[in-house]
Amino acid sequence: MSFTKAPLLLLGISLLLSTPAWADETGPTKAPSRPKNIVIMIGDGMGPSYTSAYRYYKDNPDTEEVEQTVFDRLLVGMASTYPASVSGYVTDSAAAATALATGVKSYNGAISVDTQKQPLPTILEKAKSLGLSTGVAVTSQINHATPAAFLAHNESRKNYDALALSYLETNADVFLGGGQKYFPPALLEQFKAKGYQHISRFEDLASITQPKVLGLFAEVQLPWAIDEKDAKKLSTLTQKALSLLSQNDQGFVLLVEGSLIDWAGHNNDIATAMGEMDEFSNAIEVVEQFVREHPDTLMVITADHNTGGLSIGVDGNYNWNPEILRNISASTDTLALAAISGEQWQADLARGLGFELSEEEVAKLNVARMQGLETMAVAIRHLIDKRTDTGWTTDGHTGTDVQVFAAGPASELFNGHQDNTDIANKIFSLLPKPKKPKS
Ligand SMILES: [Zn+2]
Repeated sequence: MSFTKAPLLLLGISLLLSTPAWADETGPTKAPSRPKNIVIMIGDGMGPSYTSAYRYYKDNPDTEEVEQTVFDRLLVGMASTYPASVSGYVTDSAAAATALATGVKSYNGAISVDTQKQPLPTILEKAKSLGLSTGVAVTSQINHATPAAFLAHNESRKNYDALALSYLETNADVFLGGGQKYFPPALLEQFKAKGYQHISRFEDLASITQPKVLGLFAEVQLPWAIDEKDAKKLSTLTQKALSLLSQNDQGFVLLVEGSLIDWAGHNNDIATAMGEMDEFSNAIEVVEQFVREHPDTLMVITADHNTGGLSIGVDGNYNWNPEILRNISASTDTLALAAISGEQWQADLARGLGFELSEEEVAKLNVARMQGLETMAVAIRHLIDKRTDTGWTTDGHTGTDVQVFAAGPASELFNGHQDNTDIANKIFSLLPKPKKPKS
């Protein structure tokens, strides 16, 4: 652990000796005080217990120290998440995304409209009007609550078709994620008429070399990351979005969302949640590398809220067993599906889970298996929770504060405690000033 302090000390000394970065904004290697590009990353549902659990999940058991994660490295502050008072203290993804996209609190379900259902300007819209490029790269359908609140306005997150249609008017340069079902052929034709390239096969992403692009790679959400260990979809989408958007000399604003951390949290599915966390952290590392190579880029990462009331240790046991999670080879949905249909289901399930099942466990699973797929998936999740000492308090959200992570120019603005609306207002303040009209 002491290894990490030496470079920090050296950095401190070099900062004292060198010209401060803000003294020269034109030098190619100096970071300006105001970013040209901004990458906003949201781990949906990623409350503090998720980043802690992820640290122990990634820990190398052969070393004494617990290795730091990308989250530990980039942490700068915390944020409250409560919605407008009409919705109490516990937010949903729509109200939280509205706060993060517009700097204004609204009711649960609102997509960038205020409590009077009037549209609120978003960071992406403002950036676009100033000549910057904009885009989203997400693992849910692209018209799900979080990306929708950055791109569109609607009185309800549930109006998926209306949201998809309204994307025609956003002029965003890059849409990458899932959601084919919401973009029927007639709507796709309208996007093509506006100059968008449309792709639906992940392999075709490589052929896209310039904006504008509408890439929809799943009917609704992308597959669970744990079911496609080497696919690295979110980090690949993020890399592509960066390379397309950075072609604009004026700069860009990109939203990246690890959308399915929340979905796994709603399912109280720790193994699948850790898989989603791992791919979100891969995407963060892609952006971190971009920031290193482009010191004029700010990255800000947060969660919209905490999902599931995840607890690391339960029942008075001072214990958590992430090593079990490391050996699980598929999502509980996939394991349950195989167990429902397979003849040799006990052996197959034990292989997928990476541990032998006790007689008592088999008996419980057998009862669940008779009741169908969803009951079986829940039973497998309970089994994993029991083995790992993982706890959950709800299948919904909780009102706890979330963390804020940042790097790049002006990242210190996000230090300490803030409200989720403050995050948006700070980002608004970093956008270029509109050019003065000629008089
Ligand atoms: Zn949620």
